[in-house]
Amino acid sequence: MQPKKHLSFSNLRKTISERALQIEDTRREGSVSHEIHDCCLSGFAMMFFQDPSMLAFQKRIQDYGNKNNLQTIFGVGSIPKSTQLRDVIDLIPSSSFDPIFSDFFSLLQRAKMLEKFQLFKNQYLISIDGTQYFTSENISCPGCLKKTSQKTGQTTYSHQFLGASIVHPEQRQVIPLAPEPIQNTDGNSKQDCERNAGKRLIQKIRKTHPKLNITITGDGLYSNQPFIDELKSNRMSFVLIAKPGDHKFLFNHLATVTHKIQTLEYSDDKGRQHIYRWINDVPLNGTTRAGKVNFFDYTIKAAGKTNFHSSWVTDIPVNQDNVKILVVAGRSRWKIENEYFNTLKNQGYNAEHNYGHGTQYASFNFLLFILLAFFVHQILELSDPLYQHCRSTFSSRKEYWNHLRCAIRIHIFSSYEHLLEFMITATKDPQPP
Ligand SMILES: [Zn+2]
Repeated sequence: MQPKKHLSFSNLRKTISERALQIEDTRREGSVSHEIHDCCLSGFAMMFFQDPSMLAFQKRIQDYGNKNNLQTIFGVGSIPKSTQLRDVIDLIPSSSFDPIFSDFFSLLQRAKMLEKFQLFKNQYLISIDGTQYFTSENISCPGCLKKTSQKTGQTTYSHQFLGASIVHPEQRQVIPLAPEPIQNTDGNSKQDCERNAGKRLIQKIRKTHPKLNITITGDGLYSNQPFIDELKSNRMSFVLIAKPGDHKFLFNHLATVTHKIQTLEYSDDKGRQHIYRWINDVPLNGTTRAGKVNFFDYTIKAAGKTNFHSSWVTDIPVNQDNVKILVVAGRSRWKIENEYFNTLKNQGYNAEHNYGHGTQYASFNFLLFILLAFFVHQILELSDPLYQHCRSTFSSRKEYWNHLRCAIRIHIFSSYEHLLEFMITATKDPQPP
């Protein structure tokens, strides 16, 4: 049961180590008790095992066993205390971690694991969406977004990020790309917002993947002319939600050309009606510089009642042959919320937990460690037979991680593979070795 070599845990871990070793250490010599590398890998390990108390436990194991799992599995030379970890992580510019996302992407590409994520021929569908991961009335940093209640005068601080991931309707896994923080920067009096972050993210994706064929899918926040212009200048196609409330001009126009709207309709086994409608070359809005877009919508009706309805705009010419797949693309947008954000927040990763806020980069860097841990888990789910086998011996993801966390608190394993093999054996024969 060999995983694809490039995608083995040890190679993924090594990739993170190599990038961490390149991070410039700006601390004064003499004040350094733990290497940047060890802090980064400790932070990543915590998120990998979804265990905020991992460092304390491994320090204890080190004291009596003179070895520990952070050292054997993650290559950590010396384990920082959690306060030391926070201080060091706060100093590292978050962009230092972006290359790891593209390193993983290249490894997946090289192992031919990305092909099954192509929705259209040689095209990848990238879903983008913003989400909040930190909010507090007491803890803040200069990067925090601020909102003051007019009623109570209370200021709430928050951090958000704009996530991007390759999604495919038939794949449970998603492939995250480097996210973009939505946060305030020095010398900018205006609050950052998702729309601005959207433009930065698009530029970042194109710069990182100059040759990739990309279709962006997003919610109604993005179906506006400035964002569509940004997509076009970065050679990206789009399938974006367009709601009547946000696009009065477009929907009024559609009402005048109903005779030109084409329709495809069928009933399924359960007697539900599926109605696809489309029209090409319609104005997005009423301004003179507005471009033309193609419009389509989709309705599911059962017993005369509408069960589902959504509408989109796209640059791809819509026709009878592709309207269904375009609807599938539009609806796959939800995967970023269901399979990505929901997993990060509610499936053990605790993305909304405050691991350390700092005054510079800590808040977003800890989130990046969570995303990288999630990414490594996605890759192992996709490609590592040992991981798949071990995971399948437990009824749920939660059970799986509970057992792994217990094991690393008691035993020292020589490698990640050693840990998984031990777990598989232990579940078959629960006697101590
Ligand atoms: Zn902050």
